[in-house]
Parts: sequence; structure tokens; C-alpha cells
Amino acid sequence: MTRYSLTICASDYDRLREHLGSVPEIEQAAYLVCRVARSEPETCLLVREVIPVLADDIVEADADHMIIRSRSFTRAMKQANDQRACFVFAHSHPNGYRDHSPADDETEVSLFRTAYIRIRTPGVHGSLAFTPSGLSAARVWLPDGTTAPLERARIVGDRLRYWFPTGPREAVPEFFDRQVRAFGSDIQVLLGRLRIGVVGAGGTGSCVAEQLIRLGVGSLVIADGERFERSNVNRVYGSRAIDDEIAKVELIERLAADIGLNTKVRIIDRPISYRSVLEEFRHCDAIFGCTDDEWGRSLLTKLAIYYCVPVFDMGVRIDSNDGTIRSIQGRVTTLLPGTACLFCRGRISVQRIRAESLSATNPQQAAALIEEGYIPELGDPAPSVIPFTTTIAASAISEFLHRLTGFLGQDRKSSEVLHLMEDTRVRTNHRPPNEECFCGDRTYWARGDVEPFLDTTWRSE
Ligand SMILES: [Zn+2]
Ligand SMILES: [Zn+2]
Repeated sequence: MTRYSLTICASDYDRLREHLGSVPEIEQAAYLVCRVARSEPETCLLVREVIPVLADDIVEADADHMIIRSRSFTRAMKQANDQRACFVFAHSHPNGYRDHSPADDETEVSLFRTAYIRIRTPGVHGSLAFTPSGLSAARVWLPDGTTAPLERARIVGDRLRYWFPTGPREAVPEFFDRQVRAFGSDIQVLLGRLRIGVVGAGGTGSCVAEQLIRLGVGSLVIADGERFERSNVNRVYGSRAIDDEIAKVELIERLAADIGLNTKVRIIDRPISYRSVLEEFRHCDAIFGCTDDEWGRSLLTKLAIYYCVPVFDMGVRIDSNDGTIRSIQGRVTTLLPGTACLFCRGRISVQRIRAESLSATNPQQAAALIEEGYIPELGDPAPSVIPFTTTIAASAISEFLHRLTGFLGQDRKSSEVLHLMEDTRVRTNHRPPNEECFCGDRTYWARGDVEPFLDTTWRSE
């Protein structure tokens, strides 16, 4: 059965709440224009635009009802249809009533019948109710006139907030006692509900996965196309010297089973450069980018913007010459709409991505172009040592926990952490997108499903 979700950028969510609470004791409403991310298990509504219903279009309103002129919502529906988007109606309950009211049930039948007539976009339309303390009820209307609850909403920004319908209070297993003492039981319940993606199962990826499992994250999706080699044992968590030639992701599956916290692990033994693989990451609540290639990083950069999925991308570079280390630098960069992406930051380059993708899909042509100097040589595998990959993996997990809890202080907003390990120094920075970069152009924010996926040409499956 399909589950339904909604993702909204924190700036839009805050603006929406501000409008819905703008007149004390009087109901207010807004429309959300949403693109969609659809797969068999999940349909996600990605909020692109918040359209407040203004006073001109309100016939009457008080603390527990409002009547809106039809021109107001038909205009919003037209806009949704023109933008190949879906339609969400949001309104406030100033009296604090949490659920959709019997009056909502009645009036929304015809509102959403109209939506399905006027909007041709494949997907579903939805309805949200807010109390003065925030989102309190959320559902979708299906084409047959029935409703289904929204399974979760993600509010993505400096903080990552996840909303779930209220259900019976979940007990926190005693395994997590020491962590609960640090962050409280709400975070523990939240971790148990999250679906986290891990891209790459090498030095950093296996370490990230082990931490996520032990933290109590409920569900992991992990992709890596490589097989384990014995030389990996010195840095891959969960591996053994006797393991040979098995897919690296299988090591993580085994590790999770051995730890025994009932973590759901979905393993994919192919790289995210295959469309079918990366598409599975659209519905993650957050992703850890632990790949060491720029091609994979460029795809995650796009995914973060198109689907508003926070990506914690990490890398470690050891510069050594004949066994003498000159520098060890690591970084964790958080990718989200509104912050500088890996292109803006010069962390990845078009030439290198081209060299990597061509070497994987057409080695002969790649060799010829390298020979002619059109694309850079890829070089030997970089050095990698477990304390350094572990430091960066742990730093990425801390960034994630900070976005969930704010434990590093509310005004700590940096989107990149740099570890200059040979100097024992850590620096942070916060940068907006470059003006010429795609990531600063709002047409790409929450763009959702397009054909081809991510507006990219894909290798054949
Ligand atoms: Zn209502
Ligand atoms: Zn950028």
C-alpha cells in the first residue's frame, strides 16, 4: 500500500504558520503548490510555493469556520495544473482543535472533487490543519473521494523536523538509555522512525552505517556497487579478513543483523550512477554521501535540491609522498536548497565527473580523450586510513544530530565542517549558493519527478 508524505522547506513552513496565525481567533487558509515524488511505496508532496488566501477572497470567517470565494481556489488549482503540480489546502484551527473537523470533512469533499477535475497532474491532493502550535492533522484526498492519512511530514532547514500523526506513545527500548540521558526520549523515538540513506559502504560509509544502527535508526537504505577485497579490512567496519569477494553492502546487512536492534536494512549492490538505484533514495529522510567519486557526488547534489532531501556529504584526502604525510583534510558538507552546493564550493568539477562517467560507461572513448588531454586522468586509488575516515564519519553523524536537536547551539548554522587533521584544527563555514549555479535557482528547488530523472542523461541499466 502506498504511503503518503509531504516535504517542505523550513522557510516556507515558517511563512505558512505566520500567515495562518496572522489574525488572532480567526481562521486563515493557504494553498500549497506541490510537485511530486512518486514510487510504489511512497508518494511525496514537495511544497514549491505557499499562496496565502487574502482578505479579499474570504467571504466570512470566525474562530471555527471560514468561507472562501471559489475564484481563489480555482486560480490556485490552475496554477498547480500549469506547473504540473498537486494542490494542498492548509487552514488553521485557532481554537486548538487538532483533527479535521466534521465541517472540514464535509466541505473538502467538493473542494477536492474540483481539484481532481481541474488538475491533471498524476499524484494526490492533500489537506493540512494547524493549531497555534503548528501542524496538527494531515491527510490526502484520493481520486475516489476517500482520504488517507499522511504518514509523515518533513520540515527541512537549519533544523530537521519530522512530524508524525499522533499515535500511542512508543516505549524506548532500554538499549538506548545512555543516549536518552543525552538527548531525551523524543529523539530516540524519532530515530526509530527515520529512513536514512547511505551511499557508499567503504571506509566512511561502513562507519556511518554502524553508528546509525547503534543510534537506533529504524531503517537504512545502502548502495555500493563494489565487492569487498581483503585489503579493505583495515578500514571497513563489519568486515573480516576471511571475507572475500562479497558485495560490500552485504557486510552492512550482516553487521545490522549481528548488532540485533531490528534495524531494517535495504541493500543495493549497484552504484547510484544507475537511475533505478538513485531513485530509491528520493524517499529518504536524510542521506549520508560516503562515495569517493565526483560523479556520485554530483548526482547527490542534484537530488538534495530536486527533492529537498538533506545530504551530509563527506570526504577525506590524505596527501602523502613516499610514505610521508603532508596533509590530511576531511570535510562534511550539508547539502540543502539555499546553501552552497558542491559545485559552488569547487568540491567537484564538470571535467572530472565527465572523466569518471565516461570511464565507467565507455572506457575506450575515455582513454582516447585522456590521451588527447580533454579529460583528466583518474589516477590510482587514494590512500585511506581508519582513524581519519572514522573521524569524518563521526563528524557527519554529529552534524545530523545537531540538525535534529540543536545540541551545538541554536545559532550554529554552518553547512560545512573542515577538519585539518595534521594541524588538529576544525573550521566551519556557511555559504549561500553562487549566483550562476543551478542550486540557487528556485526552479530547481523541490522540482520533484521530471523526465528524465534529475534532467540528466542516464547510463543504460
Ligand atoms: Zn477546519
Ligand atoms: Zn551550487
